[in-house]
Amino acid sequence: MQKQLIFFILLAILIQISFAFSSNNSTYEPAKKDWVLGMYEPQDFSVFKNVPQNLTNYETGKLYMLHQDALHAFERMHLKAKKDNVTLILISALRNFPYQKRIWEAKFQQIKNGDPLKTDEQIALEIMTYSAMPTTSRHHWGTDMDINSVEPEYFESGQGLIEYNWLKKNAKRFGFCQPYSPKNDGSRDRGYNLEQWHWSYMPISYYLLKYYRDNINYHNIQGFSGSQDASKIHSIEDYVLSINKECLNWKQVHESY
Ligand SMILES: [Zn+2]
Repeated sequence: MQKQLIFFILLAILIQISFAFSSNNSTYEPAKKDWVLGMYEPQDFSVFKNVPQNLTNYETGKLYMLHQDALHAFERMHLKAKKDNVTLILISALRNFPYQKRIWEAKFQQIKNGDPLKTDEQIALEIMTYSAMPTTSRHHWGTDMDINSVEPEYFESGQGLIEYNWLKKNAKRFGFCQPYSPKNDGSRDRGYNLEQWHWSYMPISYYLLKYYRDNINYHNIQGFSGSQDASKIHSIEDYVLSINKECLNWKQVHESY
């Protein structure tokens, strides 16, 4: 009897060890620093999954990726919204550093061509009305997504307003928060303009933001046009860290996570 008990205890320990090894597998998720800076290829890490095409703007034929937990939560939210006659479609999801850099450099060049006298700092600030510097984007994390449209006007009336109101009422039940809330309602006072479309899966992004705050500094923000001005612009304090208070206090509000 005792022998059997020892056998089972040993077996349980072995199972625990093998689980620990499999979850520490280096291909499961990127090292935190690379992860928050977007310095990885999502296909190399099993924690990131392709978004099924019925959840995306299918016509463009683009495949998106998200952290698996964020994806599952979005799938659940999509289904619930559908029951309420609201369609939620991803139009952007995970973007790593090279992806964000392509967006950034295209905008940078476009503004520079329009007015060659503008300084790098002016150009960067103009882009940062809505778009993040590479290494500072929440889209690097696989937890954040843009839903239905990136035009503010779309959400101001009609179907867009119905969708936005639905998200404001229901998204939190699925773990989502809107980091770029209005700048005049007391939820935040600086950073990007209001983005009704950008939603973040807090059970993961809450911790990635904490990691970013404690481990990333301006030496890590480099490798693109205008990066030398990141500290002058306060890209970390005024943009990365200045999000909706409701998202910043997520842990306190939702103790179950
Ligand atoms: Zn976004």
